[in-house]
Amino acid sequence: MIDFSFTGEQEAFRKVLRDFARSELIPSYTRWDRDAMFPRELWRRLGGIGVTGLRIPMAYGGGEVDCVTAGIAAEEISRGDFNLTYAVMLNSLIGEILTKHASAELKQTWLPALASGEKVLGIAITEPGAGSDAATLRTRAERRGDAYILSGEKSGISVATVADGFIVFARTGLEDGAKGVSAFLVPGDLPGVERKGYQDMGNVPIGRGSIYLDHVEVPAAYLIGEENKGFYQVMNGFDLSRILIALQCLGTAWQSLEETMEHVKTRYAFGQPLAKFEGVSFPIATHYTQMELVRWQCYRALWLRDQGKTHTKEAAMCKWLGPKVAADVIHECILLNGHYAYTKEMPLEQRLRDVIGLEIGDGTAQVQKIVIARELLGKEFKPY
Ligand SMILES: Cc1cc2nc3c(=O)[nH]c(=O)nc-3n(C[C@H](O)[C@H](O)[C@H](O)COP(=O)(O)OP(=O)(O)OC[C@H]3O[C@@H](n4cnc5c(N)ncnc54)[C@H](O)[C@@H]3O)c2cc1C
Repeated sequence: MIDFSFTGEQEAFRKVLRDFARSELIPSYTRWDRDAMFPRELWRRLGGIGVTGLRIPMAYGGGEVDCVTAGIAAEEISRGDFNLTYAVMLNSLIGEILTKHASAELKQTWLPALASGEKVLGIAITEPGAGSDAATLRTRAERRGDAYILSGEKSGISVATVADGFIVFARTGLEDGAKGVSAFLVPGDLPGVERKGYQDMGNVPIGRGSIYLDHVEVPAAYLIGEENKGFYQVMNGFDLSRILIALQCLGTAWQSLEETMEHVKTRYAFGQPLAKFEGVSFPIATHYTQMELVRWQCYRALWLRDQGKTHTKEAAMCKWLGPKVAADVIHECILLNGHYAYTKEMPLEQRLRDVIGLEIGDGTAQVQKIVIARELLGKEFKPY
């Protein structure tokens, strides 16, 4: 049997979030971009309605909801504010990682504060010399008694300038490759941690930037998972964030498409509403079709995760196609709205800038296709 319906609880949650997005998020979405400000107070308020603790156990103040529900949150919050949807995506990913792999002490320190929206954590893998090929990262963590000493540079990290701490991937073993990488919780206020923000094209309020670690001492208990197994144990979380990113991109694209559908019904040219021209209605029909197809692949992939079934290839499919379809939709919406949409008076240009960022973040389309091809064709046909 196949059942495509959401539960009553999921539908009710969707409605709460849609109302919240409409009344609380849409009005200030462009302001955070213009002022280059992280909306910490709104992030906290998302905590109040359960959005920052979705994948955190109830024992730590979270909602402990399924992945499908987290997907609903990504789609709905992003209708109002793409950038605040990092609260869904990052916290679901980090909430799962800490719940599954962190020590009792780390869980107690961070999970309740993460769930309430009081504290923000980022995830730091990328380095100046290691992006798509993340396994070549060079940041090192040396064991010294009851502590590890971390040194290195992380780049391109979301919430770098605003987070209270980071899950940092560092090398504890072999000089190269995925074996020998471990994950650590590094509080952002430790001596030796410095950050520098970027002048980004989009995702501006999120404070992306570089993190410099200069002999940063962290207690051994801050190791997450087993030493040298960070890539294998912890990276599994990325199958979730990839799907949530796709829904995050679709959410803002849905909002754009619906606003555009209203516009073309009321805007006249050549004596008719624009919606009467097939040159206008067919692109809308085409994009709507593509969005629905990707959306359902996302929910299927989340459902597979909820069932404990393999979904790595499905997550990668969502991650490459979702942001691309969303960017295409928003681009079309700009054209269908005409010249006003090209100004900063309307949110469409920002939505496009924002979505393009997540065509790169969490792995480009090419990297996702490597993942898919490897599963389809077998590891022996991996390009390296
Ligand atoms: C908005 C945003 C948010 C981000 N947030 C985070 C974060 O929170 N934490 C974090 O650790 N990182 C983050 N990143 C960094 C991101 O994960 C990396 O930028 C990404 O993995 C790509 O690495 P790179 O930029 O070094 O590009 P490169 O690896 O240098 O790739 C450049 C180009 O080469 C292509 N390419 C590389 N290898 C292959 C191949 N084998 N076959 C075909 N093409 C290939 C890529 O697809 C890309 O088009 C973020 C980036 C952005 C833009």
